[in-house]
This record gives sequence, structure tokens and C-alpha cells, in this order.
Amino acid sequence: MSEDLRNELTLLRDLGFTHLDIPQRAAAPAVVVDDSGGEGLLDELKAIAVVCLKCKLAKTRTQVVYGVGNPNADLMFIGEAPGRDEDLKGEPFVGRAGQLLTDIIKAMKLTRDDVYIANVVKCRPPENRNPEPEELDACRPYIRRQVEIIQPKVIVTLGKFALQSLTEKSYGITATRGLWLEYNGVKVMPTYHPAYLLRTPSAKKDVWADMKKVMAELGMG
Ligand code: URA
Ligand code: SF4
Repeated sequence: MSEDLRNELTLLRDLGFTHLDIPQRAAAPAVVVDDSGGEGLLDELKAIAVVCLKCKLAKTRTQVVYGVGNPNADLMFIGEAPGRDEDLKGEPFVGRAGQLLTDIIKAMKLTRDDVYIANVVKCRPPENRNPEPEELDACRPYIRRQVEIIQPKVIVTLGKFALQSLTEKSYGITATRGLWLEYNGVKVMPTYHPAYLLRTPSAKKDVWADMKKVMAELGMG
């Protein structure tokens, strides 16, 4: 049974259904048009994620930081893991690095509501340590499914962990930054993490050069 189907059946059971009437159907329609948008699917996945106990970060988090933004976004920003502010607020990129990301988005003449923002690890690592391999592995299915549901045209990965964990490849950030990569048929632009930009403001021009490539790819002038 597919995971989607299992989740749906579990949900129905939890809603009190004890059996299902499955009507006989004539020939299946040639084309199934999904006009529900990604919102319902994202919400279903969120319901599972917010109670996730798959790794030890569950023990120390305040709450799961799932992701925010437009379920039909053409552009997705993917970061590493929540920090203190995000853990308290339940929203990605709301601290100091987050303000810088918000400024970058604004400079692209977009708002946070136009794009989708999420992390490869959904719970805060204690003391903001790096996520461990088991944590990245445990959490990877969530970000991958978010990408699958949203089907963005472009993904911007912020920093090494986002790029490496999404793709499961050992790309270095210096070697790949500013170069188009691909993940599952989606164009990926690796760039620096905004927390790095706070320490190294001279690198902001590089990130802006990368964002100009993204804007051109999305036909934004
Ligand atoms: N850094 C990240 O990678 N993600 C956040 O949500 C906040 C800071
Ligand atoms: Fe689950 Fe990811 Fe949180 Fe680990 S970090 S408990 S895998 S949501």
C-alpha cells in the first residue's frame, strides 16, 4: 500500500469510519485533473510532521517548524534547521538570518507569501549545533514530499546542509554556489546561507548574483 493511501485510510479510521462503500466505476477517465492544489496535501503532511518522533530532536524541540508560504509557489527556499526564534514561533526564518532572507525576497520584488520556505530538518538542534546524519536522514522524506507537492520551478538551497540533504549528494558549497543543479527535474540554485552573510557581508553580492539568475529563469525581468 502506498504511504499516501495508508495515511488517508488512517485518517478515515480516526474520523470514525468502520467500513468503506466503494462504488463500481465505469472506465477510468483518461486524464485525471488535480485541481485541488497542493494545499490539502501540504496540510495532510503537516498533520503527520507536527507529531513526528522519528529522531531525537523531537525530545528537545518546542514545536515542529514545517514550512510556510504559497502551496503553488514557483520558487522555494530551503534552509537547514530551525533556530531558537523559529522553534518558539513555529515558522522558518523569522530570526536575524530570517530577516535577511526576507530582505532578499523583497529585493527580488516578491513577498514571503509568494514563495515557499522550509528546512531540511524540521526541529531545532539543541544549541544550534549542526544536524547529525541520522537527523537529516530521518527528516529528508518531509522536504522531498513538500517539493513533490509544490512542484516549484526553482529551488534555492541556503547553505551546505540544505543542498546536501535535499539531493543526498556531497556537493561543496564553494564549488557549486551560483551554478544550476537539478533535483528530480527541478532546477536548483545553491547559494550561501543568510547566517553566513551576517558574518561575511562581502558575500551578499554573490547571493544577489545568484538571485538574479533565479529571477531570469523565472521570467522576472
Ligand atoms: N536557519 C535555517 O536554516 N532555517 C531557519 O528556519 C532559520 C535559520
Ligand atoms: Fe521528525 Fe524531522 Fe523533527 Fe526529527 S527533525 S523529529 S524527523 S520532524
